[in-house]
Order: sequence, then C-alpha cells, then structure tokens
Amino acid sequence: MPGDLTEHFSRNEFASRWEQRGGTVIVTPVPDELLPNVKRLAQNLEVVRAEWGKPLIPGSAYRPPDHNADVGGVENSQHVFAKAADFIIPGVSKDDIYCTIRRLMASGKMDDGGLGWYGPNGHIHYDWDPKRAPWKGKSVTAFPTCPEEDDDMALAEDLAQLRRDHNTLLKFVAESVTQLRNGQAIQNTFIKALLDKADDDPSDPVDQLADLQRQIDENDARLDAIAEAAKG
Ligand SMILES: [Zn+2]
Repeated sequence: MPGDLTEHFSRNEFASRWEQRGGTVIVTPVPDELLPNVKRLAQNLEVVRAEWGKPLIPGSAYRPPDHNADVGGVENSQHVFAKAADFIIPGVSKDDIYCTIRRLMASGKMDDGGLGWYGPNGHIHYDWDPKRAPWKGKSVTAFPTCPEEDDDMALAEDLAQLRRDHNTLLKFVAESVTQLRNGQAIQNTFIKALLDKADDDPSDPVDQLADLQRQIDENDARLDAIAEAAKG
C-alpha cells in the first residue's frame, strides 16, 4: 500500500510515541505545520530505502518538546521539527547503512544533514538539517570504517573528468563538422565555377586539342594534295 507522504512512507509512521512510566504510550501525530518537514524527511529516507529495497522502520521520529526533553540529548532537537528519524533496516548492518548515507550525502543524492551512529546494535539517526559532522552515541567507542569512501570520491572525480573530456570531444567534433561543411561548400563553388568556365570558354583545353587536330588534318590534306600534284 503506498504511503501518504511518499511511495513507502506515511505520516503516522513518524508520529511521536512517548512511553510513560507504567507503560502507557502517548501518541502525538506530526502537526500540520510540520508536514513539509516530515515529507522532506520521508523523501530522503526513500533514497536510503532504495539502496536495498527493504522496509526502513522509523523507531522514533517526531517528538513534541516535552517528549524530547524527557529523552534528552542535543541531537534530538531536529526531532522536534520532524526533520529527524532514528531507524533501522531489518537485515541490513548499521555499518552498511551509516557508510551508505555518508556516500549518498556526499554525492548530493540526499540532503546533507546530521548522521548519528549508535553502534552495531543501536539505531541510525538521520536528519536533513542543518549540515554537520557525523557524531556517535556516548556508549559507542568508534565510527564504522567506510573503506570505499576514498574509492568513491576518486570514482566521482574520474566521472567528472570523463564528463569534461566528453564535452570537449563533442565540441571538437562539432567544430570539425562545421569546418568540413565550410570546406565542402568552398570546393563545390570552385568545381561549379570550373564547369561553368569549361562550358563557354573556347580556350578550354579540350577545345584547343580539337582545334589542333583540325589543323593537323588540314595540313595532312594539303600535303596529300602537294604529293598528288608532284606525281602528275
Ligand atoms: Zn535521533
């Protein structure tokens, strides 16, 4: 079933679910005025989701201020604006999700915002505003290593260079074609001028040859006549 925000996400998935002492859960829907924010969040999460084509489960997204104050933490502020989600993708390692989001943000496929790392058994935090360095949870000792990052950056640079070369080559081919066309036009004009000249110029070499041949024939006839006269 398609979502009411994006293809796979619905507004109610991002609602606040605040568990009280005693187990009661207070559910607060994303307020209307924050709908543009949560929609943009869902659009970004669609990009993450598309990497594996598996369901992405937002565990905690929107939090009203009192809910947010209860759970605490600086990074949580974006949750108040419905710009953030803490999530998992069942069957995908957190390292993989973390490194993938870094790549997607670096390449501009996702809004470059906040990325929180809470360890291999924790959740991933993503928010689309503002841009800042990734952080890790207090109980986590180190970030995942994303060994492909350097390769990706190099690949992106190679691609950019290739695109520049391609454009240069296209420009060169276009200029060459123009020059060839111009050259062909000049050649055509020249050939046409030669043909026109040959048609009506009596000094045409073919005409001159024909004249010469006629003179030779006439001389032959005269010589023949002289030879006949000499016999008689
Ligand atoms: Zn969070």
